[in-house]
Amino acid sequence: MTETKCPVCGSREIGKGKFNGYAALKPVGKIFSTGSAVIVDLCTDCGNILGMKVEKPEKFKNR
Ligand SMILES: [Zn+2]
Repeated sequence: MTETKCPVCGSREIGKGKFNGYAALKPVGKIFSTGSAVIVDLCTDCGNILGMKVEKPEKFKNR
């Protein structure tokens, strides 16, 4: 098991955030899609963003 650690400051205090509402990520070219919220893992000590992922990746499939 790997422990999540900030590559910038070495802190293990990793928090989770969420882009939602107007900042939701929307599929390109799908005007009526509601898009998906984006989950962000961030260091609570220095603010470095370790990773982002969309909550509902299936909305971005091209079919
Ligand atoms: Zn950090």
